[in-house]
Amino acid sequence: MSFASSTKQELTRMDDIPNCCKRAELSALVRMNGLVQIGNGRIGLEVTTENNSIARHTYKRMKELYQLQPEVLVRKKARLKKNNTYVIRVPSGAEKILRDLSILGEGVERISGIDPELVKNECCLRSYLRGAFLAGGSVNNPDSGSYHLEIVSTYQDHSENLCKLMNRYHLHAKWIERKKGFVVYIKEGDKIGEFLNIIGAHHTLFRFEDIRIMKDMRNSVNRLVNCETANLNKTIQAAMRQVENIRLIDREVGLDQLPDRLREVAEARLRHPEVSLTELGQMLPGRKVSKSAINHRLRKLDQIAQKYKVMQHDRK
Ligand SMILES: [Zn+2]
Repeated sequence: MSFASSTKQELTRMDDIPNCCKRAELSALVRMNGLVQIGNGRIGLEVTTENNSIARHTYKRMKELYQLQPEVLVRKKARLKKNNTYVIRVPSGAEKILRDLSILGEGVERISGIDPELVKNECCLRSYLRGAFLAGGSVNNPDSGSYHLEIVSTYQDHSENLCKLMNRYHLHAKWIERKKGFVVYIKEGDKIGEFLNIIGAHHTLFRFEDIRIMKDMRNSVNRLVNCETANLNKTIQAAMRQVENIRLIDREVGLDQLPDRLREVAEARLRHPEVSLTELGQMLPGRKVSKSAINHRLRKLDQIAQKYKVMQHDRK
């Protein structure tokens, strides 16, 4: 089961909430997944979802709040669709529900945006967000590469309102128009965690944070390894340049023409191109020579080589 599906499954198990909150949650579900049918002087309603726990949940909420018994239809998967589609059909009494859920206003006009009355209590605001996530939401497994939570809805006014409501919690939510509709999204890991907490997905939140901590730890270990690899590359490049310069000096004048303290380092470097400066300092005859002294002598060798390089250039 995907991370998003298990999040939704957790949310549909929340039952111990007051009626005001159930109404707000159902309002989002019906507004986002519902289809209002108007004809022959009657108003009908169908709520469609591919997720059977959301279908059961919607059915249950309608029964709890309005004491009606909707029909449930299952449309078997068509060839190109992966999942069955569940349809909750309200044949009579739909008008009452649609007005009570602030979806239809006067006559048969759709109320645009989200009715502030519906979300005036904080408990109901959270429930509306939960309903919206159930209806059109999706969240990446934090392990999958990038943090992403989104809620898709059909109408721009609804997405704008939803985005504003989410940002009352400083979630840095944004919205954008896509082919599939208007998408409200959050891209920051800690903000996604806060959203899961707000809508009551506490088990999911724990899982999310666990995976996130592991991921952050892995990333910092990778950063460390990359950093060490970069340093190692620099060390190897420097050693290669030193060896090349020492060979040049050897060809031009012979290493035995160098002062002892330079010749010793040059010979040691030729024998051990792979070791660090500190290790090189421990390989010289006599007493141990410090890393900075080795560095100084190698730089001196580089300067001498540089002089011969200039002379070679002039000879050409
Ligand atoms: Zn409430």
